[in-house]
Amino acid sequence: MPFLTENGFLKSRIEKSHGSIYNVPMEFEPVIGLEVHAQLLTQSKLFCNCSTRFGAAPNAHTCPICLGLPGALPILNREAVRMAVKAALALGCRINTPSIFARKNYFYPDLPKGYQISQYDLPLGAEGRVEVYSGDRAETGKIVNRREKSFGITRLHMEDDAGKSIHEGIADCGAKSCVNLNRSGVALIEIVSEPDFRSSQEAYDYLIHLRKTLLYLGVCDGNMEQGSLRCDANVSVRAGGSAEFGTKVEIKNLNSFRFLQRALDYEIARQTRILSGGETVVQETRLWDESAGRTFPMRSKEEAHDYRYFPEPDLMPLKLDPGWIEDLRKELPELPGPKMKRVMAEYELPADDALFLTGTPSMAQYFEECARISGNSRAAANWIMGDLAYSLKNSGRDISECPVAAKRLAELIRIADSGRISGKIAKTVFEEMFRSAEDPAPVIERMGLVQVSDTASLEPIIDKLVASNPRQVEEFRSGKTKILGFFVGQVMKETRGQANPKVVNELLRKKLQGRL
Ligand code: ADP
Ligand code: MG
Ligand code: ZN
Repeated sequence: MPFLTENGFLKSRIEKSHGSIYNVPMEFEPVIGLEVHAQLLTQSKLFCNCSTRFGAAPNAHTCPICLGLPGALPILNREAVRMAVKAALALGCRINTPSIFARKNYFYPDLPKGYQISQYDLPLGAEGRVEVYSGDRAETGKIVNRREKSFGITRLHMEDDAGKSIHEGIADCGAKSCVNLNRSGVALIEIVSEPDFRSSQEAYDYLIHLRKTLLYLGVCDGNMEQGSLRCDANVSVRAGGSAEFGTKVEIKNLNSFRFLQRALDYEIARQTRILSGGETVVQETRLWDESAGRTFPMRSKEEAHDYRYFPEPDLMPLKLDPGWIEDLRKELPELPGPKMKRVMAEYELPADDALFLTGTPSMAQYFEECARISGNSRAAANWIMGDLAYSLKNSGRDISECPVAAKRLAELIRIADSGRISGKIAKTVFEEMFRSAEDPAPVIERMGLVQVSDTASLEPIIDKLVASNPRQVEEFRSGKTKILGFFVGQVMKETRGQANPKVVNELLRKKLQGRL
């Protein structure tokens, strides 16, 4: 890599800039592109009637078509096309019509046909673009400076999935491999991004946005652990200011957002180290090993497949009616980007909060309902991001299964805002509502938690305190008014937190100043 050693300017800057978080010197720039596979939520497979239901007995959902038996002919699933078109439109893609199915040939025991049916030259969708709220990762790990960034999408195409093989022991005599073809032929879309990401955080935020979009459309369940959403990351590093990209490495096996980020950080650091040492990066496919916290080589370019793509002779070019495409465009829901913007403006929320509160369609719906009914969007946001999120996480539930319905939380907010209960008591009420799935009123009643605001019941308590703490009373009267806090604390203790602090404060001042 001559650019390093021959250019004294670059070299000296490298030496002094090893300060950034992952020790990536500033003048090295990562370039990242993602290939994401999403399993479509169709009931049957892409080219046959077999069920896609998860968890059936091995090989129960198979037929001559998805087993790849000779002579079986594929029939395209209309619903899968509908979902794929919606996804392509939502990602700003142009719809190619016709698009062409192609055979991608390779051998693997879980691929009985000997080829995957995919799209190659003419994919269903092309040249898309998404606007994503992305930020920078500070040294503390906090994401700062979130702003809208624009990322290109190269293509979106349809393909069928392979089966699943499970290897036991080392693949040799005595060991065994099992093949389950239930997944064989299930409908996927592959979404290939442009190499537009310049940090692992951008790639991460894009993937979040992509998942969110698919969830909003209802075309994929977005479950990365179960493999309904899979991500391969391509990453290279180049000298800052260089117009050309460096040699890329593809990382597979990234089945969580955290893995994606960690694998990218590791790989960027590894490649930067290689380039800093004047060496060259080898183009290869690597795997992420989470327990070891590193990537390791899987296959190099020399072993790379030549898939010998050719047009699938058993399927016609896919010609879509432009009217149908426009109908689907009209059916699109409010997408994450526009929704995020609207929520920020309408409820006056910062980007980070809006991002959380529009995380899934059910989350967004919950927040908006709660904000609308309570008339206090800030409180609704705080409750949902705080106590509610915490309780959901602890009980392993999704917001769609939340025992506290949005309108009940809104009611609780209104009660707290009215001063009938204090903020502290509201938290206790919320916990009980989460447990018993009741309205706030009966909970407050049953637990005897109504805030005490009437002076008649507070006065005797205060009188008693004033009488039994003459020293503190004297302090107050001599001008050390800070001592008021002591009295407030005592009243709260006496009333188990139910006294209205505002009323207590006023009463105490009057008493201590001898005005009452
Ligand atoms: P391949 O033919 O090896 O699959 P593609 O050109 O199809 O490569 O790109 C696959 C993915 O890799 C895309 O997401 C693309 O954005 C990304 N990519 C391409 N070149 C680079 C590079 N030099 N560095 C990082 N990512 C890249
Ligand atoms: Mg590729
Ligand atoms: Zn089948």
